[in-house]
Amino acid sequence: MTEFVYQSYPQRVVFGAGSLRHLVREIDTLGAKRALVLSTPEQADAARRVAELLGERAAGIFPKAVMHVPIETAREARDEARRLGADCAVAIGGGSTTGLGKAIALESDLPIITIPTTYAGSEMTPIYGLTDAGVKKTGRDARVLPKTVIYDPELTLTLPLALTVTSALNAIAHAAEGLYAHDGNPITALMAEEGIRASAAALPRLQANPKEIAARSDALYGAWLCGSVLGAVAMGLHHKLCHTLGGTFNLPHAEVHTVILPHALAYNAGHAPEAMARVARALGATGAAQGVYDLAKRHGAPVALKAIGMPADGLDQAADLAVQNQYPNPRPLERAAIRVLLQRAFDGTRPD
Ligand code: NAD
Repeated sequence: MTEFVYQSYPQRVVFGAGSLRHLVREIDTLGAKRALVLSTPEQADAARRVAELLGERAAGIFPKAVMHVPIETAREARDEARRLGADCAVAIGGGSTTGLGKAIALESDLPIITIPTTYAGSEMTPIYGLTDAGVKKTGRDARVLPKTVIYDPELTLTLPLALTVTSALNAIAHAAEGLYAHDGNPITALMAEEGIRASAAALPRLQANPKEIAARSDALYGAWLCGSVLGAVAMGLHHKLCHTLGGTFNLPHAEVHTVILPHALAYNAGHAPEAMARVARALGATGAAQGVYDLAKRHGAPVALKAIGMPADGLDQAADLAVQNQYPNPRPLERAAIRVLLQRAFDGTRPD
């Protein structure tokens, strides 16, 4: 076995159907007294239920999380926490709400408990994103890591089926790129392959019955593993393209991951055969790129950028942006080949 460095993070994870009931215990474990509950406006009801569960340990709710984490929202939440005498925050929701919690943690020492309700995986990473004066910045900082993560599959029962599928593919994307990361190691590879397997295997069961708790548990377990991989190793072309397309053309996060992944894998296939074999094996498919494409299509997810709001005349700009900065990727970044990749993704062509 070759030499490697594996960075694990000091986080506490509570997993299982109904585990939300341990929230007060977890706040106690942190040594905190009163929590500000964060959510999006769409999940304000879930935030209210959490506040009810907390009783007098709830300082208030702040249901204003939005995509891309405007810095003003993070500062408003932090000021609200101070005004209400909160000494911790509980973020219930997907990557946008977790992102708000992280932004608060970046500028204060408020500990964050995250209760993820999608499969985006942000709760397991020290990566943050913030929009300041219209410009989105991302970075890595151990301070933003949630101290505690409560994975309660019961809270994912309300996740609409379409977002269930694309969010699971978002998770799979972290693990797939993790398998060819230049700083990957046997531990992250194990997590990645198992994360892809668990996420993919949950989808047909959730399509048949979106309320099947065992399948919801498997999908959340997969998301945990895939998020851990995202937090531990460097991502490549796929994440770069999704970041560029999402930020520049305001495309929906999980959908853009779903559409791009088969094409990014096809681009890298010849340069990372072992990773591709592991992705394919985890999917029970003969090829990684085709397996991901077929998984998305079989479950009714979008497979074309043109179907999710990408303008055809933006493809050249996207290709330019993708090669602007060098970043690690198994295959060198070739603008012409990336432009072809984007065209295929735009049209929704199955990778060959
Ligand atoms: P999201 O958090 O924006 O959620 C999408 C919508 O679904 C929201 O309206 C939300 O309230 C709703 N929702 C979430 N869970 C629900 C549930 N169980 N039932 C009903 N509705 C529910 O979407 P996302 O895909 O989870 O996160 C995307 C964001 O997260 C992006 O901004 C992305 O950049 C960020 N992200 C960051 C990291 C990281 O490591 N920093 C990792 C992944 C994603």
